[in-house]
Amino acid sequence: MIRSIAIDGPAGAGKSTIAKSIAKTKGFVYVDTGAMYRAMGLYYMNNGVAPDDTKKIEEMIDEIDVSIVYENGEQIVLLNGENVNSKIRTPEVGNMASGVSTNSAVRKKMVSLQQQLAKKRSVVMDGRDIGTVVLPDAMVKIFLTASVDVRTERRFEELKAKGIDCDKAKLREEIIERDYRDTHRENSPLKKADDAVEVDTTELTVEEVVGEILDIAESKGL
Ligand code: C5P
Repeated sequence: MIRSIAIDGPAGAGKSTIAKSIAKTKGFVYVDTGAMYRAMGLYYMNNGVAPDDTKKIEEMIDEIDVSIVYENGEQIVLLNGENVNSKIRTPEVGNMASGVSTNSAVRKKMVSLQQQLAKKRSVVMDGRDIGTVVLPDAMVKIFLTASVDVRTERRFEELKAKGIDCDKAKLREEIIERDYRDTHRENSPLKKADDAVEVDTTELTVEEVVGEILDIAESKGL
């Protein structure tokens, strides 16, 4: 039987680290939906399209093919056939992704791709609208949060580990801006699904969060 776990929350709440670990324990496939929006953002950025240029975004949408493959258990995002994993993690691409993800045509395309992936195999999928829109019937729905300061610190360390240097104060401002855009957009805003369990990770270690979610999953028969 195909099952799914939906993990939503704001930037830097720890979604990808936690989701990867849960997927490994459960033997499910981890699907990072933010990476798909980042690939879309990268395409528009490379083509000089502004994140609010609805007309151009919609005109160009059919030239863009985003697909997902797995190599040694790692998710590879292909943008028109090219592996863009190493290009999508910068704050600029993150902001562009947040901008273009407000467009309903972009969301429709990505949601459909994500739903197809979840039909083929059991997944742990993370994003902003997984429990509310993409997988409303997911057996387990988690809403991960953490304070802005802790999220900034985590993002800063994550970028540093990847050799990307950035200004912490600026990063904090970008996170606040991104949260605002993600929670206030008209299409599928970031919000906790009514049946999601909220887990605040501010004071918890990765192991503690993973343990808590595995307990929740078990209590739901998963
Ligand atoms: O999670 P990540 O920071 O990689 O996501 C980049 C951006 O993509 C988010 O700020 C958000 O605007 C958008 N996104 C979304 N829906 C998702 C996943 C990401 O709108 N399911």
